[in-house]
Amino acid sequence: MMEKRICECCGSSDLESVFCDKTMVKTRAQIYRLEAFVVICRNCGFCFNSPSPVKEELMEYYADCLSINKAIPLAYSIEIRLETLKKYAGGNFIEIGGNQSDKFHGRIKGLFISARNIEPNSEIAAGSETIDKLEKNSVDVLAFYDVLEHVADVGDFLRTCNSLLNDGGVMIVEVPNIKYYPKNLMLLSAEHLNHFSPCALERIACRCGFNLIEISHAASRPFSFLAVFKKGKIKKYSGGYNEYLDNLACLRGGVNQIDRVMLKINNLRDKINKLKGKKIVLWCVTDFLYRFLEGYKLPQDVIVVDSDSRKKDHLSVPVYQPAEKLDLIRQSDLLVIFSPRNKTSILDWIFENTGEEFNGKKLEVIGCGVYGEPLQV
Ligand SMILES: [Zn+2]
Repeated sequence: MMEKRICECCGSSDLESVFCDKTMVKTRAQIYRLEAFVVICRNCGFCFNSPSPVKEELMEYYADCLSINKAIPLAYSIEIRLETLKKYAGGNFIEIGGNQSDKFHGRIKGLFISARNIEPNSEIAAGSETIDKLEKNSVDVLAFYDVLEHVADVGDFLRTCNSLLNDGGVMIVEVPNIKYYPKNLMLLSAEHLNHFSPCALERIACRCGFNLIEISHAASRPFSFLAVFKKGKIKKYSGGYNEYLDNLACLRGGVNQIDRVMLKINNLRDKINKLKGKKIVLWCVTDFLYRFLEGYKLPQDVIVVDSDSRKKDHLSVPVYQPAEKLDLIRQSDLLVIFSPRNKTSILDWIFENTGEEFNGKKLEVIGCGVYGEPLQV
């Protein structure tokens, strides 16, 4: 069920539709067709999705998603998180939505009296606690990294966070920065229901009882920004600037990037059709691969591999483990990587296991910029 939203930043319902998209996600138990309706508030410039799925459905969805594959490199830098956490060490620490965060939590043990991860994914924490059930005024440091963009009611979530914190407690937030959208493919993440600028986040948090104490680019993922807030009486809020034109330009820049990647996907289909009879390997079952396969009949001799065995039945064709198809990988005429962030680790793995190096016309990476930089995590 989808529900209309008004602007949580300024309360206005003067919204303009900018971008629509749909995609498919296979969870452990079912297939979800996600639809994204991105709007911008004309009164303040905050961008978000409306209508968006209701909270109960989102919780069901996240409970059933595949947890992060521990076999691939982390999508974030633990070192960068530690730099910030050191400044607020002591007391107790709670992370919300950390998914597979053992490595991260292993590194913060010495900084806090206790550290816990409250996670909705049932593959990690079967039937465990939710933030609604935590004791009020009991937390010293609360952190959530790339979580708030997935939340349908930001104010409700932040007010709950506020009630959990001790007076003077600290909330550490990282979210994708809309200002970077012209340089990435974040708009393709249909799960993202909010597209924050630093101003918009501060304004909403301020309405929920938080003062901004630190803001910077030093986020643990390359597409996000870091904001640190303190619970307490609101001292100041400098806002009021309408970011409508700025953020509209960012969304349009993001749409341009998507057009480019869709063009690349079309060109790739043509290339594969022309290579009829040659051996081709498609690597990683990601959103890019779903988009590539949509409405396209995969020729014979094209195989799909993914190191995550949970994905073996995710397509209408089999998904093999790379180790099962070493000979075919070694002999293939074209390798297509659909997970740009993991390009280096995949190429290293192939070299170690087959002795082959893929580059030039034998390699395509979907979701990269003009310099080969990954445009999505
Ligand atoms: Zn607004």
